[in-house]
Amino acid sequence: MPYPPASHAPTLSRATVPADARAVLTIKLGALRANWATLNRHSGTAECAGVLKADAYGLGLEEIAAALRDEGCKTFFVATLAEARRIRAIDPAATLYVLDGLLPGAAAHYAGFDLRPCLSSLEEIREWAAFSQGRGRKLSAAVHLDTGLSRLGLPPSEVAALAAEPSLLEAFQCALIMSHLACADEPSHPKNASQRALFDTLRASLRPAPASLANSAGVFLGPDYHYDLVRPGIALFGGRAFVGESNPMQWVVELRARILQVREVPEGSSVGYGAAYTCDRPTRIATIACGYADGFLRAISRVDRTAGAVGFVGPHPVPIIGRVSMDLITVDVTGVPADLARRGAWVEVLGSRTTIDDLTDRAGTIGYELLTRLGRRIHRVYVDGA
Ligand SMILES: *Cc1c(COP(=O)(O)O)cnc(C)c1O
Repeated sequence: MPYPPASHAPTLSRATVPADARAVLTIKLGALRANWATLNRHSGTAECAGVLKADAYGLGLEEIAAALRDEGCKTFFVATLAEARRIRAIDPAATLYVLDGLLPGAAAHYAGFDLRPCLSSLEEIREWAAFSQGRGRKLSAAVHLDTGLSRLGLPPSEVAALAAEPSLLEAFQCALIMSHLACADEPSHPKNASQRALFDTLRASLRPAPASLANSAGVFLGPDYHYDLVRPGIALFGGRAFVGESNPMQWVVELRARILQVREVPEGSSVGYGAAYTCDRPTRIATIACGYADGFLRAISRVDRTAGAVGFVGPHPVPIIGRVSMDLITVDVTGVPADLARRGAWVEVLGSRTTIDDLTDRAGTIGYELLTRLGRRIHRVYVDGA
């Protein structure tokens, strides 16, 4: 099996990793910034925002927001009010949108921190408009239209009602009209064009305002999808935005776990819970300190006859064998020199050689899920280089 060279992988220095760290997530802020710059270039004249919901896809909201701000990113979208307040605390100038929309009675919490709800219904719009009028100034917000996801946003019938009541959109500052694509990861899916057409039709019935439709994959659907602002999330972190093409983004995360113990077992030994894997030769097994409680999905387990995921000790591939358990993974280190595969050494289980998407394709899920679940007991190291 061909693997890319390991030369890029930063070695973990004693200075950055405490002795008691059992697993380490290295987050490369230089690669993150380079990815934003790539997306920004791809977006032409549209503004490139950053979507940092779920603690910046699990990678640390404050660190990620600060790095993107330094690269020139001025607008962030998060899911929750609490997330928006965390960014506000470190970035007084950022434009911050809350995708949850307006929680009933919470308008003052948004206004107090200069946060913009993505208003998702006529009811939310009325509440924000009334609050804004009560404050005697036009507070900003986005209006979120549903063009086919059937999730959040005003459906066409509510857009018609909004168009029939123009005073509503005059009562506050509609800074953005947005919608979200359902199938952007499949560039040839007809739903992309139909959502775009509906977005244009709906917008034409409302007061003109800056518009936004594209997530990461939408950026790569081309200029027709860029409008005034694009909203990439996963691509910032090196995740695959769409299927079937090579990924133009740089890797941002590497996950390494420490070897706790190495043992030799004879041919015929079973490994792990359920005795789901049986060694077909004498095997040297390393047990490493990472498991599904750390977000390393149990579905990544290798049972007999399935092709397993592969970690690395230095340049050496080490197949995962047996079931992933709560705190531990077992890997086959038979082919690795004993001085490399020893107690305390690191096994890279996620990085440029085994990508998030490799792992999650195997587990029947998507990179987003693995990233956002990487647990808080994993020690995090932020490095500046790409
Ligand atoms: C999550 C999200 C995005 C970012 O999506 P990616 O696929 O991660 O780029 C953009 N817009 C909305 C409304 C979202 O919920």
